[in-house]
Amino acid sequence: MVLKTVDLLKSEIPIEEESVIITEDVKAGLVLVDIINGFCTVGAGNLAPREPNRQMTEMIDESARLARVFCDKHLPVLAFLDSHHPDKLEYPYPSHCITGTDESNLVPELRWIEKEPNVIIRRKDCYDGYIGSFEEDGSNIFVDWVKNNKIQTLMVVGVCTDICVLDFVCSTLSAKNRGFLNPLEEVVVYSQGCATFDFPASMARNTKDISPHPQELMHYVGLYMAKGRGAKIAREISFNSSK
Ligand SMILES: [Zn+2]
Repeated sequence: MVLKTVDLLKSEIPIEEESVIITEDVKAGLVLVDIINGFCTVGAGNLAPREPNRQMTEMIDESARLARVFCDKHLPVLAFLDSHHPDKLEYPYPSHCITGTDESNLVPELRWIEKEPNVIIRRKDCYDGYIGSFEEDGSNIFVDWVKNNKIQTLMVVGVCTDICVLDFVCSTLSAKNRGFLNPLEEVVVYSQGCATFDFPASMARNTKDISPHPQELMHYVGLYMAKGRGAKIAREISFNSSK
């Protein structure tokens, strides 16, 4: 039997996925990365899926479910929204998620969070939400959010697993290791709450700048890389009273 590449990867570089239980004695925060129309809604733009996609649909459902639990429990939520000036492209990708268009807005399943008092929205014009959180004066919205809310466990969901989610997780873990994010103790990437785009080799043959990007494989690689930086990878997340 010929193994698919992703099966081969899973046997050669297995990821231990955990069941993460959030108890009430640990302060948890949720970060939603770029769950916006331009990346997630069929036909919404140059980088949106061209047809319905199971991984993307599951990511939206699971992220919205988790956001609902966090809001019901009045736990802090931060949503990054990729939003670009029309004259500033983000190489190597084509124009996407221009500020003021519906591409750069949350997907319909998450628009309700904009009215929730525990949610802050941060528009960013780069891959990495940590970098995108810097203000002109050097302060950082994300760092302040972690500190002000005394977040110990950070849950991360969104798109793309191997690009903006991974970049954000890497920067956050480096900053945590340098002591910038106290009292943050752990970063958890929820695998079903993440997705990436599909751009198979057959389609990439005619493009100069964008490399092939098979969805299932790159999603797995993204989780593997996050795990390699010290993130926990969760296959399920549940909430429990501590006592
Ligand atoms: Zn972008």
